[in-house]
Amino acid sequence: MVSLTFHGGVNEIGGNKILLEDGDTRIWFDFGKSFTMGEDYYTSWLQPRRSNGLKDYFEFSLLPRLPGLYAEDKLTHTELKHEEPSYDGVFISHAHADHVTHIQFIDPEIPIYTGAGTKLFMEAMEKTSSYANYGNHDYRNFRTGDKIRLDSLEIEPIHVDHSIPAAYGYIIHTPEGCVVYTGDLRAHGPRHEMTQEFLEAAEYKEPIAMITEGTRMARRGKRRHLSESQVLNGVVKICQEADTNGKTVFYTHSPRDMDRLRTFSISAEGCHRKLVVNTRTAYLLNRLVEDQRLNLPDPLRDDTIKVYYKKKKSGTYSEKDYYKWERDFLEAIVTPEDLKNSPKEYIVNLSFYDLAELIDIRPDAGSPFIYSMSEPFGEDDLEEKVMHNWLTHFSLRYHQLHASGHLSRKELAEAIETVNPSKLFPVHTENPEMFGELHKNSTPPVLGKQYTLT
Ligand SMILES: [Zn+2]
Repeated sequence: MVSLTFHGGVNEIGGNKILLEDGDTRIWFDFGKSFTMGEDYYTSWLQPRRSNGLKDYFEFSLLPRLPGLYAEDKLTHTELKHEEPSYDGVFISHAHADHVTHIQFIDPEIPIYTGAGTKLFMEAMEKTSSYANYGNHDYRNFRTGDKIRLDSLEIEPIHVDHSIPAAYGYIIHTPEGCVVYTGDLRAHGPRHEMTQEFLEAAEYKEPIAMITEGTRMARRGKRRHLSESQVLNGVVKICQEADTNGKTVFYTHSPRDMDRLRTFSISAEGCHRKLVVNTRTAYLLNRLVEDQRLNLPDPLRDDTIKVYYKKKKSGTYSEKDYYKWERDFLEAIVTPEDLKNSPKEYIVNLSFYDLAELIDIRPDAGSPFIYSMSEPFGEDDLEEKVMHNWLTHFSLRYHQLHASGHLSRKELAEAIETVNPSKLFPVHTENPEMFGELHKNSTPPVLGKQYTLT
């Protein structure tokens, strides 16, 4: 008997935790953190206490209370007793927090399967952020073309295009037929042919069930969406304008979106400017150059990319002020003075948490600031208000240019029609009931309910 149980990603965008069982074989697809995780109880700096393991999560049922799943030390303060692992693996679709973060609680004896590139992203995150800690695990890497056999199941990961490299969808061969899991994917990105290959492979298997993401399934698209090449054209236009009036260009984007980074890098080159990134991005890029297909600049080798260091204790950019992993890039340093002296030479990444650097940089009034992320969800988004206050204070001109990482409603309809599964389970969406318009046998999953596929 093959079944699916959805322990996350239900009625919300993110937090995917999908259990597939066939008799004693039990595997998970993603084990992510919900974006809205317990926001009725936890917000801003009020968060589950790190030293308390799962206790603060169980209090509000933010993670399923299942025996044989979690690491012994994470259960210490809870009523759930540690048991020998009764799960055979966790398959991660990609390295976004809402798909991977909560593997930190998983028993280290349960293997974690990831794409090779996904593992690299996770390692870079752990190195450069004090918040990322996925725990010690029995990691097993795969690439497209690999098939992983676990008892009665065979799991086939296939690359898809998403707003982070090394994203995968899955085809799971079961004794009852194939189950397809999309992970997150898009059809309009620079690698759209990968998504197409996945959907075609899925179609060929005549699946009994498809678990699809539905981020952009909504009555009205609330946000403006462009393709990546439209974003590129927009950025180039802003740079050209800034050239004529001698201004620095500032931008912010999701730090793991390497397609967007490439877009800014290409724009910078086209306008004979240097791309300025923070030390975390520099470290990530330096790791990612191993993968030549990504075609990204390397701050240790390419003169087209520079690194902004925040001034620390010594006030002199002394090596000792920085973490070891940050020090390598000091030769490519750019300071606020450099930006002040040659505004036309740079296009500078400035994230929300870097805004205070503007006090040192003091850009010319009218310098463009490109917000290259999805617009905020709520109208009363506090961070957005604060960001706009900073931009107004320094008289920066706001532009919004973004291409989504997800299928549009129309593309979702086409993908489902192509794959043509017997049953459909929408996850990672706020509107699962709307999928009834796209498929005659669509089931909006109920959290924790088991669905038999026979
Ligand atoms: Zn994602």
